[in-house]
Amino acid sequence: MRITDRIHQLTLPFSLKVAENKTVKRSVNIFILLGKRITLIDAGPAGSEEKIFSYLEEIGRSPDEIKFILLTHSHPDHMGAAAAIKKNVACKVGIHLAEQRWLEDIDYQFSQRPVPNFYDLVNESVTADILLKDGEILDIDELLRIKVIHAPGHSPGSSCFLLQQDNALFTGDAIPIKHIPPIYDSWHESLSSLERLENLPYAKYLLSAWHDYRQEDEVQDFISDGIEWLYAVYTALEKFKQTNNLSTHHLATYVLKELNISVENYHPLYERTVQRMIKDLFS
Ligand SMILES: [Zn+2]
Repeated sequence: MRITDRIHQLTLPFSLKVAENKTVKRSVNIFILLGKRITLIDAGPAGSEEKIFSYLEEIGRSPDEIKFILLTHSHPDHMGAAAAIKKNVACKVGIHLAEQRWLEDIDYQFSQRPVPNFYDLVNESVTADILLKDGEILDIDELLRIKVIHAPGHSPGSSCFLLQQDNALFTGDAIPIKHIPPIYDSWHESLSSLERLENLPYAKYLLSAWHDYRQEDEVQDFISDGIEWLYAVYTALEKFKQTNNLSTHHLATYVLKELNISVENYHPLYERTVQRMIKDLFS
């Protein structure tokens, strides 16, 4: 899908195992930046390379033009296809240095963050060629100038990218979406990253991995809604935290009810978020 002459979005489907006998359909947005060469923002889950290559051919470009894959972070639905793309075309992979190890050693990532069907989403580690730093400017070519904004919280090395020519901000999974069970490593870091994004100069487009893109006035609303949602989760958890002898699972379920989210949407990674919040904020 074309968003601007320079920005195209691909929505890539995948299945996520949320319980022993339950799988749900999800999708992730990745972005194709068309300059003199091509830069991908994220690579999608394993197997996405064919969809990316066919899309490029449909719009009259060649997969061989891909020169960079910039990863917003190392979670499997974002980097799963990176190794396959890199094998097919000569490109460089960039990620924030805080997530180099998770990218380069998927078994280590799985040991730290056990997504139930992790190996369906990624089956190969990939080497980082460029370690991104906050504030760094990547002059890809005269049509693509990209600023790196470190936005930890969802994961330690989550990064947003600002494409200066289109004033477009790519946020990956950094901004939590209202009414969806929150998934982040650190509530505090998420909050300070969102406050930082909120105070950036006005961006014309906001392109999230989780949601349709936003533009003009909707951009600030999307970030403010994310901040409001963080506080709502905090308040809900605070209400139940002193209830004696609750397992994390029960506590997490109560928090969902308090937030008016159906327990049908319960997710093992969400339980991990609640566990982290208890440890970081309430113990
Ligand atoms: Zn993620």
